[in-house]
Amino acid sequence: MKHLKQQDPAVYEAIRGEIKRQQEGMELIASENYVSEAVLEALGSAFTNKYSEGYPAKRYYGGQTYTDIIENIAIERAKKLFGAEHINVQPLSGAPANMIAYSAVLQPGDKVLGMDLSHGGHLTHGHPVTLSAKIYNFIRYKTEKNGKINYKKLEEMALQEKPKMILAGFSAYTRQLDYQKFRDIAKKVGAVSMIDIAHIAGLIAGKAIPNPVPYFDIVTTTTHKTLRGPRGGMIMCREKYAEAIDKACFPGFQGGPHMHQIAALAVCLGEALKPDFQDYARQIIKNAKVLETELKKYHYKIMFGGTDNHMVLVDVYNSIGLTGKEAEIALDKVGITLNKNVIPDDPRPPLDPSGIRIGVPAVTTRGMKEKEIKMIVHWIVDALKNYNNDNKLESIRQEVIALCKKFPVYEKTS
Ligand SMILES: *Cc1c(COP(=O)(O)O)cnc(C)c1O
Repeated sequence: MKHLKQQDPAVYEAIRGEIKRQQEGMELIASENYVSEAVLEALGSAFTNKYSEGYPAKRYYGGQTYTDIIENIAIERAKKLFGAEHINVQPLSGAPANMIAYSAVLQPGDKVLGMDLSHGGHLTHGHPVTLSAKIYNFIRYKTEKNGKINYKKLEEMALQEKPKMILAGFSAYTRQLDYQKFRDIAKKVGAVSMIDIAHIAGLIAGKAIPNPVPYFDIVTTTTHKTLRGPRGGMIMCREKYAEAIDKACFPGFQGGPHMHQIAALAVCLGEALKPDFQDYARQIIKNAKVLETELKKYHYKIMFGGTDNHMVLVDVYNSIGLTGKEAEIALDKVGITLNKNVIPDDPRPPLDPSGIRIGVPAVTTRGMKEKEIKMIVHWIVDALKNYNNDNKLESIRQEVIALCKKFPVYEKTS
């Protein structure tokens, strides 16, 4: 960053600070990761200068030799990874990808069945505060006491409500969904089936969990969570919906695609096609399982009965009497970063909920395995027990930094 350092010390110093924070902190936010240096280089490339409204070979501006190459590479690699019939790599992020997908197949006022936010669903799946809920009529389904979705009930709901779309997917749910059941129910009521795999795209690409693409009409995702790419979105769909999706993206919803981001996505997808990405995805699952079993040893209450993916949702309030917000703050003090989170039908408010969400994709990228996850759980438990004892928290913080130094990231990015 030699130009930046010289020209704009204030911004340079903030970036240096953020790199150091990412190096020394234990990153357990389930939606975060560390992209490779190659991805960062592509993101910082001259593609940021280019307007390329339209699609490869059908653009509205000249000078598209290299943008076409990049976008086609990204599409081809994504097709190889996920086996989709059609892929659009232009959505600027996960939330726009969902709005684009809805607008491609729904009319304002149409009914959608989506997962309740407090049961793990995402804001963009029809939470009342969002634009999606103002345009479409979302009906929300929930999980059962055992942590599973009751597909019989879901089917009854679908038969009664007759939605135009049945939406699967989540940001805080931890169990494997039954893709076939969603497909059967959608078919039975004549609804479009859609799944949002924002959180689990990397686990699917790495073949660590089943691939939903063959089962659903439309699949949306982010590219920056477990997939470990630049911030962005993608939409995959059956050929039948290809034209509607592409038109809904541009010109329907967006202007020019972010080609530097698509270049970085192409790099990320190239990485995900390599065999060691499958090792990475499998290790994420192993690490999350250790996280679950260790926390259970300390009698922490794990929601949904456990995890089949990269994260756990913990009811800290009913485990140790701290709220999610208090736990987040105490853990921040020891350099462990995660987020407070509502639990199903949480009686507490969203800004001070009962739970915390803990995810392992970022620490797994650093190379941490079962042994380190056990150490992390020990520190979490110790920090929450001693949340009032600043000396104790400081000594845990030093141990956290020492372990992070053993698993370096971005050593060459200064
Ligand atoms: C993260 C997430 C999104 C939103 O992605 P952004 O890139 O933050 O807009 C959408 N859906 C799900 C399920 C997510 O987890």
